[in-house]
Amino acid sequence: MRFDLITIFPEFFAGPFDHGILRRAREARLVEVNVQDLRVFTKDRHRTVDDRPFGGGEGMVLKPEPLFEAVESLLGQSVGDVRQQTARDPRTAIVLMSAAGRVFTQETARRYAQLERIIFICGRYEGVDERVAEHLATEEISIGNFVLSGGELPAMLVTDAVARLIPGALGNEASSQNESFSDSLTSGATSLPVRVQHAAPLHAETADGLGPMKLESPTTNHVLLDFPHYTRPAEYRGWGVPEVLIGGNHAEVAKWRRAAALEKTKRNRPDLI
Ligand code: SAH
Repeated sequence: MRFDLITIFPEFFAGPFDHGILRRAREARLVEVNVQDLRVFTKDRHRTVDDRPFGGGEGMVLKPEPLFEAVESLLGQSVGDVRQQTARDPRTAIVLMSAAGRVFTQETARRYAQLERIIFICGRYEGVDERVAEHLATEEISIGNFVLSGGELPAMLVTDAVARLIPGALGNEASSQNESFSDSLTSGATSLPVRVQHAAPLHAETADGLGPMKLESPTTNHVLLDFPHYTRPAEYRGWGVPEVLIGGNHAEVAKWRRAAALEKTKRNRPDLI
């Protein structure tokens, strides 16, 4: 799968794609990341990408021409004009990062992971000429209800969430087995909590590399957050780990994890219950 990131700050992306799962996925050629400098598509001496807003007001707005031309150059075809828009390849998404977009969730990540290509448009300043949202982008996506200074961090975040879902990207066979394990769990083959495929990621990568995981409580049928994880030492600064996790009784461990996931969800995300 190929990710293109259109930006006025190409150096911004040096580093984040060079570690962990993303690095491995790139090395294994499962993922290709291409950073495209927007200023290449300017025509004036000052390489101008922005201009003042029509109607007045604060700040500057990214101009449409370099953005349309950057995307068309990457696609190798025109997207058309007001008289005739060119048909789009459904395997390619053109995603405008925008605080005013639809909110990105794990469900979006799963949908994107089916695609062959995503072209991200990273906004700056006051944002992007609205004709980009209307006639160039296939989607306008926000990473949450807050305003950042640019679309680069949001585009990285979405790239990471999508890339790790590409088959083979997790590397560790147990990880992908566990993720696809949800089907057998749903059908009642085991008493471990159910992993579901359709909720938002809520916290960082887990030590086992499985990443954010959602659990569905068999008793309540609600989507829950991950259960708490512990590792050695069993006692740290006087704080122990739950006895049941050390006892080796798998049924008891599963029961504890389900209850702990429910308790944590109630505490941190009561809106999910
Ligand atoms: N004036 C805009 C904010 C512009 S912030 C507004 O009030 O909605 C500049 C750029 O940062 C945006 O064009 C977008 O690309 C990016 N950005 C800021 N917050 C974002 C968010 N929550 N999700 C995705 N992109 C965001």
